[in-house]
Amino acid sequence: MVDFFYWFSILFASILSSVAGTVAPAFFKQAAFPRTHHVSKLWSELIARHQFAYIPYFITLGFVGDFGKHEVLKNFILLLLVWVFISYLICVHISSNLQDRRFEKHHVCKDSKCEEHVGPLAFVKLFRGSIILALALLVISLIYAGVVKRQHQSSGEKYEDHVSTLS
Ligand SMILES: [Zn+2]
Repeated sequence: MVDFFYWFSILFASILSSVAGTVAPAFFKQAAFPRTHHVSKLWSELIARHQFAYIPYFITLGFVGDFGKHEVLKNFILLLLVWVFISYLICVHISSNLQDRRFEKHHVCKDSKCEEHVGPLAFVKLFRGSIILALALLVISLIYAGVVKRQHQSSGEKYEDHVSTLS
């Protein structure tokens, strides 16, 4: 369980930094050039852009994780990195180019400051593809966090062990 929280905290810190990297520029941009449905749009941008955080997470797992008897999972890391990148690109495309059209399915905006409420259920309906892709990544990364152990020995200690078994 300690290992799970160790990997989860790495993932959480990584996601948190990408969330900050999305929210901060959107906040300043909104102050200068207000857009319709800012909060809902920000959510769809967060769903897309936080996915990039899985790249350092899976790289860290691949390099320093102890896969033990689940060694086969290590072979999928490269595939997962490609998947993260494709999933990220699809969702960023939706959140930047298709976003306005998605909201038009919900209602036609009255003006350039329209803030007609888009409820959570309506939001899920409009962006279900992005949400499914993001949830799939979360589930896979949590499975890895549950299976992969930390390497408890530093390479120096391993070398010392190796030398002591030889002597
Ligand atoms: Zn509107």
